Amino acid sequence: MSKVAVVTGGTRGIGAAISTMFRDAGYSVVANYGGNDEAANAFKEETGIPVFKFDVGDFSACADGISNIEKEVGPIDVMINNAGITRDAMLHKMTPEMWSAVIRTNLDSMFNTCHAVLDGMRERSFGRIINISSINGQKGQMGQSNYSAAKAGVIGFTKALAQETARKNITVNCIAPGYVDTDMVAAVPQKVLDSIIASIPVGRLGKAEEIAHCALFLADEKSGFITASTLTANGAQYIT
Ligand code: NDP
Repeated sequence: MSKVAVVTGGTRGIGAAISTMFRDAGYSVVANYGGNDEAANAFKEETGIPVFKFDVGDFSACADGISNIEKEVGPIDVMINNAGITRDAMLHKMTPEMWSAVIRTNLDSMFNTCHAVLDGMRERSFGRIINISSINGQKGQMGQSNYSAAKAGVIGFTKALAQETARKNITVNCIAPGYVDTDMVAAVPQKVLDSIIASIPVGRLGKAEEIAHCALFLADEKSGFITASTLTANGAQYIT
């Protein structure tokens, strides 16, 4: 039977690339999304991948959403925590709402979804949890104190949970992408984007498929000795 993989924010950008690459690799894939019904329906139509709408920042919504997926599709083997947002501003101009929205969606979400899948993974003694961090969680980014804090938190969360689950054959890893050509990056002003690209030794933005490929590698049964790690995919823009 094919393994079940759930991708949060799996209907657009990096998440959509992960969803389709996992489907093509033989997984039974479910894509979650937060609010953009139009994009989700178009994605579902185009790919045949079922979509489930729930807010990853909401604990009860995640518990219900994961439970519905398990009832309709089956026990979850691979949990890919990809959903994320930005609300950029220098700290002195950042509102509490901008701070909280980013922490909630990018970091609370890790607790919410992992809490919902872990009992099942522990019972079945198998699981792959893959969390999407960011280059800006590794190096910090001016104008993104909220996002940098959340994405650095994802790395710490990953390292701690990996130790808790190791004996149960559940690996927990994260991927730290550099700048990838998606809607999120399209929101960056062109002048700033040009200077970002100039600072990437590979000389271009990453492709969503290149991040999806990292996730597929970490999800593989043969990747069982890789846990608590951060896989950096940033064109050598930042070397940890
Ligand atoms: P996009 O903005 O293109 O897509 C974001 C996805 O997340 C959408 O499917 C969106 O759903 C979903 N989402 C947002 N908020 C919620 C929520 N509260 N509940 C459920 N789903 C939600 O993002 P990217 O593909 O660019 O980014 C994906 C991940 O990669 C993020 O975690 C991001 O921080 C990270 N990343 C991105 C980089 C980049 O350069 N693009 C670089 C480094 C990291 P909906 O369509 O309904 O809004």
